[in-house]
Amino acid sequence: MRRSYKFLMRPTAHQQAALAACLDDHRALYNAALEERREAYRRSRVSIRYGDQSAQLKAIRAGDPDHARWSFSSQQATLRRLDKAFRAFFDRVKAGRTPGFPRFKGRDWFDTVEWPKDGDGCRWDSQPEHPTTTYVRLQGVGHVRVHRHRPVRGRVKTISVKREGSRWYVILSCDDVPAEILPATGAVVGVDMGVASFLTTSDGEQVGNPRHLAAVAGELAAAQQDLARKKRGSKRRRKAVARVAALHGKVRRQRLDSAHKSALMLVADYDVIAHEALQVTNMTKRAAPKPDGAGGFMPNRAAAKSGLNKSILDAGWGVFLTILSHKAESAGRELIAVNPANTSRTCARCGHCAKENRATQAEFRCRACGHAAHADVNAAINILRAGLALREAAAA
Ligand SMILES: [Zn+2]
Repeated sequence: MRRSYKFLMRPTAHQQAALAACLDDHRALYNAALEERREAYRRSRVSIRYGDQSAQLKAIRAGDPDHARWSFSSQQATLRRLDKAFRAFFDRVKAGRTPGFPRFKGRDWFDTVEWPKDGDGCRWDSQPEHPTTTYVRLQGVGHVRVHRHRPVRGRVKTISVKREGSRWYVILSCDDVPAEILPATGAVVGVDMGVASFLTTSDGEQVGNPRHLAAVAGELAAAQQDLARKKRGSKRRRKAVARVAALHGKVRRQRLDSAHKSALMLVADYDVIAHEALQVTNMTKRAAPKPDGAGGFMPNRAAAKSGLNKSILDAGWGVFLTILSHKAESAGRELIAVNPANTSRTCARCGHCAKENRATQAEFRCRACGHAAHADVNAAINILRAGLALREAAAA
């Protein structure tokens, strides 16, 4: 199994400056390599390859010790990242679309440096003689203290450093992480995901919608307005950007935390978990404005849709399902994705399917047999039933 771990780093002031320089220099490398590729493409439609740029980098490093301050491998990883952006660009061109050219990265759009191999320009747990403190050694930065809040299992493969606002994180990607199989409980469950309640189980349990974004929405809106009023390139603008980023970070952390808790609860209690197969990206796509033929745009309920976008994104179903699938795999639990069509309008008792069964948003009342239930619980039972049917069909 593969798994990643994210830990807060506690760099000294000196190390913080080195980390910022490391990020800046990798960004400069990315932008310079991009410039070279753009020019070659613009002038003669020639595409420069990763291999060419990597060889050039090697020559540059040999001639200039300043460039050799950082790990060659992490610089190569940055060039590979650019290569990936170009591949995606050319794939879209080939597909007949008109994609935007890969862009130069401004300071706020480049936040990660990757070391592709532990031991090559970086070392996890670099001071093993310290039993109580964990360090990561990064070339050009030193041994940085890490707040390792949980044990790391498996073999560390890649090490990344990420800046989020004023915080620095180290992200480990590990291979061969052993599974921790949980004892069987003999219980199965269906899970309905909604906007009013984040989760409802077929046993009637509900987890409220973690509307973190709603809670900090006011703060965030004010911070964004404040940012819009600042002059480009000013010191105050930089501060306002940091404030907005910090609020987004807060939302992200809280969302992850509640997704972990909900997933843990399900995985601890049930052997088989059936959930809706959601296509979050489709549901949250921004509504495209319609031209009105006079150079303007007609209202198209984009505002209403973006409100829904917000609550869907807020609910973080995608984040939750990703975490749930990792935990289920690790614990040896079975996860079944079910097509959600009709699960909310079908009677869980008699199977009668009609739009009218849904009396209100919260209440289900069957027009055929009179069965009344909480609408989300009714849906969760249908999801469980559909999941078990899929499972039986697969076993047959
Ligand atoms: Zn019925």
